[in-house]
Amino acid sequence: MARAKVYVSRVIPAPALDIIRDVAEMRMWDREDVPPPRDVLLREVADCDGLLSLLTDRIDDELLARAPRLRVVGNMAVGYDNIDVDAATRRGVVVSNTPDVLTETTADFAFALLMAAARRMVEADGFTRAGRWKTWGPLLLAGQDVHHATLGLVGLGRIGSAVAKRAKGFAMTVLYYDPIRRPDLEGSLGIEYRTMDDVLRSSDFISVHVPLTAETRHLIGAEQFRMMKPSAVFINAARGPIVDQAALAEALRSRTIYAAGIDVFEQEPVSPDDPLLALDNVVLAPHIASASIPTRTRMATLAAENIAAVLQGRRPPTPVNPEVLAPRSSG
Ligand code: NAP
Repeated sequence: MARAKVYVSRVIPAPALDIIRDVAEMRMWDREDVPPPRDVLLREVADCDGLLSLLTDRIDDELLARAPRLRVVGNMAVGYDNIDVDAATRRGVVVSNTPDVLTETTADFAFALLMAAARRMVEADGFTRAGRWKTWGPLLLAGQDVHHATLGLVGLGRIGSAVAKRAKGFAMTVLYYDPIRRPDLEGSLGIEYRTMDDVLRSSDFISVHVPLTAETRHLIGAEQFRMMKPSAVFINAARGPIVDQAALAEALRSRTIYAAGIDVFEQEPVSPDDPLLALDNVVLAPHIASASIPTRTRMATLAAENIAAVLQGRRPPTPVNPEVLAPRSSG
């Protein structure tokens, strides 16, 4: 029988490639810095049984239609808003993601953004390097306190909960909104459930940890920023389009809110003309919240393990559409 074929859409850590090579003939887009152009991706998937994709690859019905042999897409991310999962399910293609392995690393980074924005770390670094430091000043680069402040979480899933644990180490009060109330976590994490508006109004820090879906697109816009305290610090390490970025820039420019820490953007990479880049009260990062070497390696190997499992007829560890795997009824 012919070996299965798998296309890997970027250079990823070697242990993941070994997993794929064990079960399939592998081809790879051999660059790390840019994704394959759309026409290359469409051409490459034409004869593939498996695809290891990144969030920079749009896996839509057009692509799936051009890949008649495709059985599995292993996305190297927990979010899968780049994939039309309904279309994949209709075509019997398993989609998998990489939950859990990136939770703690992403929560670390969200908290790092929170602290950097609150305590003006990036401004302080630039100020010191530029030789602008003339004397100790009573209010020199004074920011906001993190300890004993109130953190509001929008979304209390894996990463939101992990951020809550970190906040408790800083003696913070933690409020959360999630469509599903979690009394178990309220007890174990010592956190309080509030309506979304109440979270926005009552918190010193607001951090968003929801997936990007039709419902969460522009969940945070001008109206929501107006509800926040003028001293509020806003963090987004989830997905860019959850936030109306023009409204965020205006809220920061007009000091409707105090500061922000932003890892994700409506357009990635962010345009050099984007108004956010001209503001000093926002800490920016190029979508790297899960980017530690061990975690990126675990994400890649988990994506590869999902592909290997499907190609070998085993149950993949983390499918997004497990209904595709359900045994067909004999009736
Ligand atoms: P998760 O465990 O599924 O948590 C998401 C939570 O958001 C769930 O509890 C969900 O509730 C809740 N939610 C959905 N819609 C909501 C709404 N409108 N308002 C409030 N809460 C809502 O996912 P996770 O592992 O924590 O990851 C969260 C997201 O972070 C991912 O989808 C991904 O896009 C992003 N992420 C970004 C990076 C990065 O590099 N910047 C890294 C990792 C993850 P239900 O369960 O009721 O739907």
